[in-house]
Amino acid sequence: MDYIELAMKRARESNCQTDTNFFQALKEVLTSIKPLMEKHPKYLHQNIIERIIAPNRSIYFKIEWLDDSNNIHVNNGYRIQFNNALGPYKGGVRFHPSVNPDILKFLAFEQVFKNALTGLHIGGAKGGADFDPKGKSDKEIMKFCQSFMTAFYNSIGADIDILGGDIGVGAREVGYLFGQYKQLTNSYDSIITSKPLSLGGSLGRTQATGYGLIYFTQTMLEDLEETLSGKICTISGSGNVAIHAIEKLYDLGAIPVTCSDSRGAIHDSNGIDLELLKKIKLERRASLEYYAIERKNATYTKKENYVGGSSAVWDIPCFAAFPCATQNELGAACAQKLIENDVKLVAEGANMPTTPQAIELFVKHDILFGPAKAANAGGVAVSVLEMSQNNSLHYLPFDVIDTRLQEIMSGIYIDMKEVCDEHDLGMDLISAANILGFQRVADAMIMQGV
Ligand code: NAP
Repeated sequence: MDYIELAMKRARESNCQTDTNFFQALKEVLTSIKPLMEKHPKYLHQNIIERIIAPNRSIYFKIEWLDDSNNIHVNNGYRIQFNNALGPYKGGVRFHPSVNPDILKFLAFEQVFKNALTGLHIGGAKGGADFDPKGKSDKEIMKFCQSFMTAFYNSIGADIDILGGDIGVGAREVGYLFGQYKQLTNSYDSIITSKPLSLGGSLGRTQATGYGLIYFTQTMLEDLEETLSGKICTISGSGNVAIHAIEKLYDLGAIPVTCSDSRGAIHDSNGIDLELLKKIKLERRASLEYYAIERKNATYTKKENYVGGSSAVWDIPCFAAFPCATQNELGAACAQKLIENDVKLVAEGANMPTTPQAIELFVKHDILFGPAKAANAGGVAVSVLEMSQNNSLHYLPFDVIDTRLQEIMSGIYIDMKEVCDEHDLGMDLISAANILGFQRVADAMIMQGV
């Protein structure tokens, strides 16, 4: 049995059999680090695989909270502190009804290697709760955030584990979580990033993941003497990542023509009206169907009407596609449609949005592919700049942060290209990201002993 089969067997024995997302992420990493294992047997001698695929600590907790009518509710909360070989645990918090230990374990595992790719000194973690913020009043959101923090605040700290935002956790939730930590500990420690500016947040953090995705894409294209200027782009999602990816695409002269939410998709062939999109999703927190009501030339397709398992977003011919909503949203049928429409590039804004079958199709057809670990690392990179500003009390202007973000994103691509050259990987950036992230974490683990 080779090391991959052995590790998968070990993972299956020590994890829940329903951990499908985690096993999917695990298999991708283990398969693509093969060239590294062959070249450096020390990783096998040090039993690094078995050590790196198990989380250091998984915290499960109960969250009790009161709604506006004083009914008592109970939700499940989790924090997976996966690996801290490179620095304190760092990773976002997700509030969504689909949250479960499997999803958070996969996200935390991915976060370990993503954080390593940035070249900054942070470990990887992820947390969240199966709480649905939709339809809740502001006061209910506040009470839930306070209960969430109360349930596990003693497991985190500015040098131990630093939280951040993710799906369902934006500036409002971050503010409430931070406020409750301060209340419980009497400290203003930097235990969460993506804070509002008035609480010590960083300029440029809100934009960082979406902008970073496009900076990474721009660097990939420069290498091929191509640009985004004048190109039709399709984007899924309409949250933080999608909105700022669309904003940066416009800055670079591209034409973003789609967006989506959990209920449907918009196609606006004149280019997405960004101001209207922001108003609907960030201010009104409403469905995208209002976009088509206010912009008559746009088409809205309800999720129930997606054809043949392909989201309406990926049916639209484009030069570049950016999945920015959620995991496994772009399957084989969507990939096939994109390929038929001559897509040249796919870059992942969301975490693991592309299924293995879809990736296989993109690879087979030589479509340039920017994997999430690298392409969406801009958010966590600027979060570390936020932590550093909090510690030094020296706050940087937007331009300085944005320039640093561009340097980090192009640095990630350049480091990955070196790995491609070293292992004869061509433009296989998926393997390059996994090899580089794995190697940095594994080397730090070896140096620290068993
Ligand atoms: P967000 O602001 O909460 O937005 C998520 C968007 O995805 C919303 O438009 C949501 O629709 C949509 N969505 C959720 N589930 C969907 C589904 N099953 N089908 C179609 N659309 C769906 O979250 P975000 O921060 O943009 O995060 C998006 C992705 O990027 C996640 O995978 C996250 O882990 C990843 N990511 C985020 C950051 C960051 O800095 N924010 C950093 C790295 C990676 P509704 O409006 O209907 O809910």
